[in-house]
Amino acid sequence: MTTSTFPKPSTELQKNPLISFGRGVCDYSEVKPSDIEPAIDFLLEQAQHAVDHAVDPTTPANWNDLVESLEDATESLGRSWGVISHLNSVADTPELRAAYGEMMPKVSAFFSSLGQNLALYQKFKELNQSAGFAKLSTAQKKVIENSLRDFRLGGAELPDSQKPRFAAIQDEQALLGKAFSDHVLDATDGFIHVVHDLTELTGLPEDAIAAASDLARQKNLQGWAFSLHFPSYYPVMQYAENRSLRRLMYEAYVTRASELAPQYTKGKLDWDNTQNMLEQLRLRDEEAHMLGLANYAALSITPKMASSVEEVDLFLTDFARKSKPFAQRDWDELGEFAKTELGIADGIQPWDTAFAAERLKQARYAFSENELKQYFPLPKVLEGLFGVIQTLFEVQIKKADLPTWHQDVQSFSVSNAAGHVLAYFYLDPYARPGKRGGAWMDDARGRRELPNGEIQIPVAYLVCNFAPPVTVDGELRQPTITHDDVITLFHESGHGLHHLLTQVTALGVSGINGVEWDAVELPSQFMENFCWEWEVLEKMTAHAETGKPLPRELFEKMLAAKNFQNGLMTLRQIVMSLTDWRLHSRFDAKSAQGQAVLNVSREIAAEFNVIPQPEISRWINTFSHIFAGGYAAGYYSYKWAEVLSADAYAAFEEAAKLTGSVLDAKTGKRYRTEILEVGGSRPAAESFKAFRGREPNVDALLRHGGLSATA
Ligand code: ZN
Repeated sequence: MTTSTFPKPSTELQKNPLISFGRGVCDYSEVKPSDIEPAIDFLLEQAQHAVDHAVDPTTPANWNDLVESLEDATESLGRSWGVISHLNSVADTPELRAAYGEMMPKVSAFFSSLGQNLALYQKFKELNQSAGFAKLSTAQKKVIENSLRDFRLGGAELPDSQKPRFAAIQDEQALLGKAFSDHVLDATDGFIHVVHDLTELTGLPEDAIAAASDLARQKNLQGWAFSLHFPSYYPVMQYAENRSLRRLMYEAYVTRASELAPQYTKGKLDWDNTQNMLEQLRLRDEEAHMLGLANYAALSITPKMASSVEEVDLFLTDFARKSKPFAQRDWDELGEFAKTELGIADGIQPWDTAFAAERLKQARYAFSENELKQYFPLPKVLEGLFGVIQTLFEVQIKKADLPTWHQDVQSFSVSNAAGHVLAYFYLDPYARPGKRGGAWMDDARGRRELPNGEIQIPVAYLVCNFAPPVTVDGELRQPTITHDDVITLFHESGHGLHHLLTQVTALGVSGINGVEWDAVELPSQFMENFCWEWEVLEKMTAHAETGKPLPRELFEKMLAAKNFQNGLMTLRQIVMSLTDWRLHSRFDAKSAQGQAVLNVSREIAAEFNVIPQPEISRWINTFSHIFAGGYAAGYYSYKWAEVLSADAYAAFEEAAKLTGSVLDAKTGKRYRTEILEVGGSRPAAESFKAFRGREPNVDALLRHGGLSATA
């Protein structure tokens, strides 16, 4: 029996900014690296105490005593730790990084110990079987069912005799995954090609030539150096007129981390991933069998939206069949252009495709990206984005003044029609030193009902890395962003809305929490569609100097270029997805040997692709998503979520046929209620069906991508 009382912070700790914000929001600018260790140590102690209390035999297995008290303590730890990792991403300093790295192992160890705590598993099972379970809300039940599922997938039901092997499989997989990515990196780093004569680089843009000259200098070489890192490699493939240079780089690139590497790249045989892939597939197969599942694909989808291995296989093969004629059309067009316009008479080769595509794009769809950018000043874009959200979801977005971590960061409130505040979010728009690249949405606080019955409202971070405003002749220019940036902003705001507009009160499934992994990109990709609507762009654009909206003519050019070569790109993604899927569902890993993995990729390419897979290509040996990145039997989810988001958007296009506008509040309300508000509290397949009135289908995505006869 637990007799110790719940740990309370000392007076000193109460002043620590990582503790003092309690359920509110942190004053980020107050956080010092030296605050981290005492705060996290204390919160870990509190959380551990809550776990010990939860598993105590005298603690009743009901929602309040078990789930809620556990949630309370782990939420406090999670939120403070979230502040630190957020600061580590957006305001990195050497001191902060060191303090963060210091505490990281302790925090990860605590969270992973929860999943391995069998006494806790027993308590959850007791609660699940108790009379009280039936009286819980749908969301509360879902939290408990998700926990039980995760315990089971973590091996909790295995007989004791099998547990050591199960744990060993996890460790071996982690080591193999790490080795796989190390090999890819070493193989990528291990190749340098030096060019001594500038005329060999004809066609390359100036910045690519400058980068090659820099790389040569770094390596103490004369001339211009190219590596297999994408920013060095790809401009050669795209722009170099020198065909033999392209071929040399291509062959080195596609043989990385394979048995052919020594021949093409002077790479080492130790970096060959052929055996590593087989071993990983064998371990995954074994893991799935231990859990009583037919294969790893079945294991992968257990917590996902896809309901069966066959469903995903059918989805991909049907998608391949539908997009193949359009890929063939793109391929023929490229081949013809290469022959007639580029003098490639002996047939287009894999090292010609990026080059020919770039030239064809210039010839057909050229417009200046820089000219386009002038029409998107950030304040105008935000006004446009907020306008879309306010119209569709009947909310108001207003400036707020929450404490932030940098002067450029803004905060906003989201309130309903009655003026009641539903949520807050931060927007950190610009790139700066000490800020990680890319764009993301993260939750700063989740919606939940507190023990005292009050509702805690959600808070989100929207982080982008747009080019910061510049000063010209002493005057600060309006910050303008590219159309790609606009799409990114809409994408992240879609994740944000999913988190902020939730109505769920059980933290484990409110907002983005507990949403199936293959459905999580639905609300984000959904929002991207508005960036291609004339009625939205017309209002969202104002030229930085003239103030005029985007000309219709330029908009038409953007639209025409949007789907350039999309047939080929789509089919490529599907072939990669199918290769991943079949390797994890139809592949006999146990008896497979030698080049068996490569052979699967070849068979699939031969059946589905229109571009022949070159004999020397070992692209599979660098497919890090599935062998080192957590996408094993999950690569399909990119296309899966695109289908969902396009099909959801099609409901707005259908409404527009009647009302004349995609910004249809009636459809918006249904989308908000059935998709955004329910978060992870019910299966995504049910939410989609509730919104659309039917199962998802691929037609809208094909149409949007120019891959259907009616497009
Ligand atoms: Zn996303």
